Amino acid sequence: MNLSLMKSNSGRDFFTVNAVQTIKNSEDVTLSKVTRAKKKFEIVGKCPLCGHSVIEGQKGFGCSNWKKG
Ligand SMILES: [Zn+2]
Repeated sequence: MNLSLMKSNSGRDFFTVNAVQTIKNSEDVTLSKVTRAKKKFEIVGKCPLCGHSVIEGQKGFGCSNWKKG
């Protein structure tokens, strides 16, 4: 094996592209995981009555403060 090949431009470019692709892939996975973990409900706006977040849950839209009010 010729080690000088690893220092060639083509070799470095190949590594860089691979690294960036790997980072992009891992970011996608991380983002989707975080999104799924944190966003159980989609916040669609603010409640006009109490100012709390209006969320879209399994049963539809609703104020996140409806239990307390
Ligand atoms: Zn409300």
